[in-house]
Amino acid sequence: MCGIIGYAGGKQAAPVILKGLERLEYRGYDSSGIAVIDGERIDVIKTCGKIKALYAKTDCGAKPNGTVGIGHTRWATHGVPSDVNSHPHTSQDGRFSIVHNGIIENFAELKAELTAHGIKFAGDTDSEVIAQLMQYLYDGDVLGTLRLVTERLIGSYAIGMICTETPDVVYAVRKDNPLVIGLGKNENFIASDIAAALEYTHDFVQLGESEFAKLTAHAVTFYDVNGTPVEKTPYRVDWDISQAEKSGYPHFMLKEIYEQPRALTETVRPRIRGNEITLDRIALDAKNANTFDKIDIIGCGSAYHAGIVGKAFMEKYCRIRVNCMLASEYIYSDPITDNRTLTIIISQSGETADTLAALRLAKKLGSHTVAIVNVMESAIAREADDVLYTHAGPEIAVATTKGYTTQVAALYLIGLKIAKIKHTVSDARYNELLSEIEKLPNKVQTILDDISQIKDYAEKYAEHKCVFFIGRGTDYAASLEGALKLKEISYIHAEAYAAGELKHGTISLIEKGTITLALVTQSALQPKMLSNIKAVQSREGTVLCVATPKTKDVGSDADGLLVIPDGDDDVTPVLTAVVLQIFAYYVAAKRGCDIDKPRNLAKSVTVE
Ligand code: GLU
Repeated sequence: MCGIIGYAGGKQAAPVILKGLERLEYRGYDSSGIAVIDGERIDVIKTCGKIKALYAKTDCGAKPNGTVGIGHTRWATHGVPSDVNSHPHTSQDGRFSIVHNGIIENFAELKAELTAHGIKFAGDTDSEVIAQLMQYLYDGDVLGTLRLVTERLIGSYAIGMICTETPDVVYAVRKDNPLVIGLGKNENFIASDIAAALEYTHDFVQLGESEFAKLTAHAVTFYDVNGTPVEKTPYRVDWDISQAEKSGYPHFMLKEIYEQPRALTETVRPRIRGNEITLDRIALDAKNANTFDKIDIIGCGSAYHAGIVGKAFMEKYCRIRVNCMLASEYIYSDPITDNRTLTIIISQSGETADTLAALRLAKKLGSHTVAIVNVMESAIAREADDVLYTHAGPEIAVATTKGYTTQVAALYLIGLKIAKIKHTVSDARYNELLSEIEKLPNKVQTILDDISQIKDYAEKYAEHKCVFFIGRGTDYAASLEGALKLKEISYIHAEAYAAGELKHGTISLIEKGTITLALVTQSALQPKMLSNIKAVQSREGTVLCVATPKTKDVGSDADGLLVIPDGDDDVTPVLTAVVLQIFAYYVAAKRGCDIDKPRNLAKSVTVE
């Protein structure tokens, strides 16, 4: 995820673009840049770091000079955050400059092809291929060439482009990533979201999938995927800036919950080609996968909970012992680890102090370390032997949502890859699981398309003082995350319990007014869960079931039932997590809590 803005108008472009980038900084903040047409050439200024670094480098927008330009604030996915990898990227001949949001999945192939034709790349991003392809394919028709370029791209993109051939024009195209067009008076804008242009206009047009736009100061024309002009109807937005930054959602947490289909797609899709899983540069081949006799998964908070889901999946399919440990415990536990242990370290921020200490210890003990991290070039990403990035985009809300579900997806990919190499999964089951993992974004979208029932239950139970989450197997793992989410943001006491454990103690706490969320997504465990639910109800506890179409009968006697989309039992924790996030969110909203910044908590915990 990143922020794009483009401007064609009568004012100096640089100050407008810089201001727009500030508004978009929540979308990416590892580097930024600006390109403006200055007479016959494109002038580019870009830098690693926050927008204030770009302000400094441009003398607060005094340069570059010109009235048509594009800008970008980056959240790196390919190529470290650095000056050269910052956008805009310009073709070798200096004629085309582009900004890109998304992932070009076939960039390596395209780069090899262009390099073979003598084109030299300046940096390591996937995005640069777009600018270089423009140069390579240019046939005198800029828009036509942009169409040819997009035909060669596999992946997701929102692209803004300027070009010396048509110095008064900004071009735009998008597929699977957002881009809006702002219609001003003698000035027009492209932007990743309306926040960037809201200061200048309230009239916007949504660019459709695979549609193109061509903007000058005085006109905007739209084209469909074939290059045929299309009419679009503008809409008027009367949000203020803070609403706009959250795309109209009242909190970043809710926005991030809704971003999960995209985040999961970006995490999973680039790693699957046909039925092969490629884990970036992680060299997992038969030789080294078989050298491990144990896997340790280490994390804190939600990352630890993701690890517990991963442990169940890996043990089942890789037939290898997996320990999941809290980083803060691991570092003082004298762990039994050596070069036959694969250590998977999980941290959204990549800066979690306990987790970093655990990584260092595992390395010192000779273990091979793989980090699952969201923030590129963070300390953990740099220090681990290998890294698999979750491409969730920046997470602003303190309580993680898309960070967690993408970690689970990453663990599924690693687990399935190891299982394939070790031949511990049949080809048929492997293909089934792979296709289920690929379907997760759509299934999450189905949940998000109608959240009314979850919201109703949340509001109904919002004033209760005590909530239990129970489940068995991976439902227990999902319970842990559900309970944490509720605690973090609503301040209600919530406990996750392995359902079979209730009778060994906790059931004494069940009484009238206690809410129990019973997760029943594992078909084989449904009868056992039914007994646990009955036990809670006989103590006058209220039970809300989360079930699948296969297990939903379990809810017939319960006080409430939420049904998640049908799917494979082994990947339901991602779907359950989304339901429980929404539940926690609306409980907290009803209670008037400060959802994005819960008391006493910080986003990135950099103390041990
Ligand atoms: N994949 C591009 C890069 O790494 C764009 C990232 C983004 O959308 O933030 O530079």
